[in-house]
Amino acid sequence: MAVATTFTTVSPGDSSVVGEFPVMSTDEVLAVVDRARLAASWWAEQPFDERKRRLYRFKAILAQGSDELADLVHREGGKPVDDALLEIILSIEHTGWAAKNYQRVLGRRRVWPGLLTVNQDARKEYEPLGVVGVIGPWNYPVFTPIGSIAYAIAAGNAVVFKPSEYTTAVGKWLVDALSEVFPEQPVVQLVTGQGATGAALASSGVNKISFTGSTATGRKVMAAAAENLTPVVLELGGKDAVLVDRDANLDKAAQAVVFGAFSNGGQTCVGVERVYVHEEVYHEFLDILATKTRALSPGSVADASYGPMTMPTQVEVVRRHVADALDRGAEPVVGGLESVGDRLIQPILLTKAPEDSAAILEETFGPTVVVNPVRNMEEAIDRANSTRYGLAASVFSGSRRTLEDTARRLRVGMVSMNSWVMYAGVPGLPWGGVGESGFGRIHGAEGLREFARTKATVRERFGLPIALTSFERHPKTGELVNKTMRFLHGHAK
Ligand code: NAD
Repeated sequence: MAVATTFTTVSPGDSSVVGEFPVMSTDEVLAVVDRARLAASWWAEQPFDERKRRLYRFKAILAQGSDELADLVHREGGKPVDDALLEIILSIEHTGWAAKNYQRVLGRRRVWPGLLTVNQDARKEYEPLGVVGVIGPWNYPVFTPIGSIAYAIAAGNAVVFKPSEYTTAVGKWLVDALSEVFPEQPVVQLVTGQGATGAALASSGVNKISFTGSTATGRKVMAAAAENLTPVVLELGGKDAVLVDRDANLDKAAQAVVFGAFSNGGQTCVGVERVYVHEEVYHEFLDILATKTRALSPGSVADASYGPMTMPTQVEVVRRHVADALDRGAEPVVGGLESVGDRLIQPILLTKAPEDSAAILEETFGPTVVVNPVRNMEEAIDRANSTRYGLAASVFSGSRRTLEDTARRLRVGMVSMNSWVMYAGVPGLPWGGVGESGFGRIHGAEGLREFARTKATVRERFGLPIALTSFERHPKTGELVNKTMRFLHGHAK
């Protein structure tokens, strides 16, 4: 059987071909990684403040090219142009933050040495890892990889980027822009292909893998990386909930839910898939939400509410979840099984879906949302915490205390209070999940340190009469130190 040497990306809107790319073999991926190692050594040796200049240049290219890039994201992934612009704007913000903050976060710093080692100048520093492999999804083909690539570069690494096979032209646009920023060396390179190419990168022996994608693939990536003890950061799937208390601003909450559930056709890792609403405001909330949902107009045009499904196979997942929920007693409020078309899915709002149905427990990744009434916020928190995922959540309440108490008790990596997804717009905040939503953090200071190796150093500033770590120490030294420590620490305060 002949092995395909190229593949094409196809617009979900009109099935036109957007780009053709090589299916890169393991050997080709390894050759790219080898080149990246040389580039990594070069980049790590550049003056520390050079990183800022390069990242600002990249940020400017993104800002100047935003219309062209948004059009490409729209054509290749199917999302409306405004949504594409939104992820580009966020990526510009993140690149700027990484450029502005890496010196503060990764600069060498002093650590108080402690009494016993007071003669030491103790420091920690953050060194580049070398080559970082970034494997990305198609749903936010700019925002997700930039969250790793910009921070990895800022930490002094070279990057090999494998974009999704559905949005490879967008990935190539980004790497071409970065090649302009690094004309001397291939500090950021592209590898193209399907899962096998990603697998080759995961087992290539790079110094870190930053993977964003499904939980199932994340498991495989981690297993492949384990062969070389390559560390991984995994940004995986979600089943995010919105909790609405009885004193919440219902119109605002409904606005957030409708955007969080349906924008990008629900193909958002932190998309709203479940809503738990206090029973006292359940009917009123559902009415408002239904009205807003009916007002949506999805389609392939550039200014639609959302576009067709990017990945054809996801349509069946959505159909299965909706059918299962309805079979098991869920009530359709807007749309139903008939809303699931060949590629475009009209908005589906369900209520009273059983808590053990697929629509509640599994990631649907489509324009559907389930609203279930709860007796109180206790119950809302319990239910929100009851899936294996733990990416993000939102809570709406008129009470700051309820908001903060609920946020603290939600088993997730990110919480929006009285809004949806606003943490994504704050580049200083770390991004990541718990449980089957993954581990490790991108964005913010944690995101910079994710791509750095911490080194601890001590330098003797002056000799001490008590040489604890020497065979030549005085026989009484141990006893003297022990007595001193007992005097200093032997009393519970
Ligand atoms: P996916 O797991 O199918 O693919 C992601 C990437 O992995 C693609 O580039 C793919 O080619 C590659 N890949 C496939 N098999 C591989 C293998 N064996 N080894 C290495 N790489 C392999 O995911 P997707 O459909 O592209 O993206 C949707 C998923 O991503 C959803 O589950 C969504 O929740 C998740 N996601 C998570 C975040 C987050 O930040 N947590 C952000 C966006 C998307």
